[in-house]
Amino acid sequence: MIERALFIGPPACGKGTQAAWLSAKTGISVVSTGRMLRIEERAGTELGKLSLELSKTGTLVPDEMVIGLVESWLDTHGDQFFFDGFPRTLAQTKAFEKLLEKRGTPLQLAILFDVPDSVRLERATSRQTCRDCGKAFPPSAVGESGDCPKCGGALIRRIDDVGDVFRLRMEQYSRMTQPVVDYYRDKGILIEVDGTGNPDEVSSRFASALEHCGGI
Ligand code: AMP
Repeated sequence: MIERALFIGPPACGKGTQAAWLSAKTGISVVSTGRMLRIEERAGTELGKLSLELSKTGTLVPDEMVIGLVESWLDTHGDQFFFDGFPRTLAQTKAFEKLLEKRGTPLQLAILFDVPDSVRLERATSRQTCRDCGKAFPPSAVGESGDCPKCGGALIRRIDDVGDVFRLRMEQYSRMTQPVVDYYRDKGILIEVDGTGNPDEVSSRFASALEHCGGI
């Protein structure tokens, strides 16, 4: 059974949506470091202020702060998780591996969705994200009320989904996170799924890929 996996991949590749799909199937929580940071931002903590400043330029939060968040999550929530958007650097990857080694709970899978840059740019610059539950929606999924279709919360445009900042995030992904993808590929635990098309089409391809890894 898959109980420890992470979703990596460039911004707006659909990893949050597919992590939520797998979570609904398994009952295992999705842990998004981006969402944790947005909660810190709203609470106005020191980490939140720094994160807000960095997100204006699409810059990553320092490794040790993100590792601190992840470590306290593991300490309070246990050893089943689907991380979304973590790790994003090799330093985070190695620190995470040490944490899991100490706990005797190795990572089982790293999951990557392939989507062309132009499609991701279009998705990101048109999507709206719920301030409360963190889910992102394309314009076609938002009703007349303009509220979150899932929880009724307020939908916002993320400041880092604006064109120029989004391009910086893509550039940063190639520089900082692509080596993480290569690392998990070399370890033999990376699965790659075609992430184009609507969410149901992607979930069905994802389900087939998981079948090849022993199923959910
Ligand atoms: P996300 O919602 O995953 O796209 O993350 C939004 C922003 O939070 C990113 O652009 C980073 O500034 C920050 N962030 C999220 N996860 C990480 C991470 N693992 N390492 C560093 N910064 C992160």
